[in-house]
Amino acid sequence: MHLGIKNHKCNQGDYRTSQKSALKKHIDNIHLGIKNYKCDLCDYKTAQKSNLQNHSDSVHLGIKTHKCSQCDFETVLESSHKEHIDVIHLGIKFTNVINANINQHRKANFNTI
Ligand SMILES: [Zn+2]
Ligand SMILES: [Zn+2]
Ligand SMILES: [Zn+2]
Repeated sequence: MHLGIKNHKCNQGDYRTSQKSALKKHIDNIHLGIKNYKCDLCDYKTAQKSNLQNHSDSVHLGIKTHKCSQCDFETVLESSHKEHIDVIHLGIKFTNVINANINQHRKANFNTI
């Protein structure tokens, strides 16, 4: 065995390295176009720039965002997050709910008469 031999070779080019992890990084960066975004303030790393932004906002700036688990919707307000889920994903329309309550109320009043 020879020490320092560059036995990890990229199968898509001439790149060679002695470290398997370096080859993986090379393939990710050069051939798969995966970019790793690293937080300046801690060890957090991500392949998506938006994730790094979210991380920085929530962890280092103290801005808490509520992210919808079913789509890309994001808000800093808990109340609008809830409203978003009700309206968009549960199909609840607030005007209908109010009208239904009023109708029920009227019915109830008629019954007592
Ligand atoms: Zn390569
Ligand atoms: Zn960080
Ligand atoms: Zn959503």
